[in-house]
Parts: sequence; C-alpha cells; structure tokens
Amino acid sequence: MSKPKKEKNIEDTQKFVEMVANKNGWKLTRDAEFLDSIIEGLNKNYNRHGYYCCPCRDGDGIKEEDKDIICPCDYCIPDQEEYGHCYCGLYLTQKFYDSGKETQGIPERRPL
Ligand code: SF4
Repeated sequence: MSKPKKEKNIEDTQKFVEMVANKNGWKLTRDAEFLDSIIEGLNKNYNRHGYYCCPCRDGDGIKEEDKDIICPCDYCIPDQEEYGHCYCGLYLTQKFYDSGKETQGIPERRPL
C-alpha cells in the first residue's frame, strides 16, 4: 500500500470525476445521492491507497495489482459500449444519458 503524498478532499475528487467525464464526453449519473456515495468511496480509496481504486470492487491495495481498476478503469469503455455505463454506474455515455434510462447492475468484466 502506498500512502498518498497529499490527501484529497471530497471537492478534489468531485473535480476529478467531472474532469474525467468532460475529457471523455461522458455524463455523470444524474442520481445525486448515488454520485455522492461514489465520490466518497473514491476519495476514501485515494486517501487509503494513494490512487483512485474503483469503489465498487475489492482492490488489493497494491497499485500494480489494481491497475486495471483505477478509475476510469480498463473496463469502463467496453461496459459503456455494451450497457451504456460503467460497472459502478458513475460514467454514462451521452446516448444512455439522453435515453433517461436507469443504470442497472451489470456483470463483472474483470477476470477473476
Ligand atoms: S466502474 Fe466506473 S467508477 Fe468504477 S473504476 Fe470503472 S469507471 Fe471508475
């Protein structure tokens, strides 16, 4: 486990997810309560491990082992292509967002 040089606060993490979404042309979930919980989880993971480990998965706390699930994870785009949103339901494609559909539980794409 590598402790972060400088801890991040909730606002830092909120800016991070907004930056990732803007940069990729994605939308964030419109469920404000859920968004807050994901941001909280990411923030906690950053301050615990030193990187934004996916809050919906069990990371090892070892960056090398977790590198595929550092947000935005390696599975985000394939999941968006198939389901319209990432595994956590944080990042939505514009098309999915516009459809007004709710995110759903989707299968874990990460190999065991
Ligand atoms: S599933 Fe979504 S929130 Fe979790 S790491 Fe991947 S992109 Fe980030």
